[in-house]
Amino acid sequence: MPICFDLDGTLGHFSSGFVLLREALGTLWGGTPTREELGRCTGSTDWEIVDELHRMRFGHPLEEAAYAAYEAACVARFRGAFIPGGQQAVAHAGVLEGMHRLAATQPVWLVSGNAPGLLAFKAEALGIDPAIPRLGSLPHHDRTSLLRLARRDCPGPHLYVGDRPHDLAAATAAGMPFLGVGEAVPGDHPVLATDAAAEQVIELAHRTAS
Ligand SMILES: [Mg+2]
Repeated sequence: MPICFDLDGTLGHFSSGFVLLREALGTLWGGTPTREELGRCTGSTDWEIVDELHRMRFGHPLEEAAYAAYEAACVARFRGAFIPGGQQAVAHAGVLEGMHRLAATQPVWLVSGNAPGLLAFKAEALGIDPAIPRLGSLPHHDRTSLLRLARRDCPGPHLYVGDRPHDLAAATAAGMPFLGVGEAVPGDHPVLATDAAAEQVIELAHRTAS
């Protein structure tokens, strides 16, 4: 049973993330994408978003080498900002504990829109067990295809735990039930508060997975 967790907004948050993304691209592209340009992006993964911004600026698709350069620059920005005495990640402690306890008895994956190097940094910052597999934003994949990769060769029941409408849409497209965290996803799916206790996470995950 893969129970898949989104990261940002689900397990915690890194409040200035999109500022750092724009700054990282600014160092590489000779100009920082504007908030308005970022707001026009429709994708939910780094590959999709950076590809959309690249098309707006240069008129042609992102190449994998340019995505790797973005990933390295963005990780460097995060490493510089999230340091002792600097910005701090906010952890959803009960959701994190629930995820770890679930992982003790069944397959659990991180499936996130962050580029893989950035996901590795954020997972470490939130204290996530390195034994939990991380699946970040790969070239030419959207969130739905990442979920399909995570569940490949793994018998059900399945579940995606996320905090945004794009998480629900991806879970639905991948044929997985959805468990929301926070109040940002309208619908009739079950929802956990961001400060839910680990026991609630485990109980709702078991009840919702199929
Ligand atoms: Mg999220």
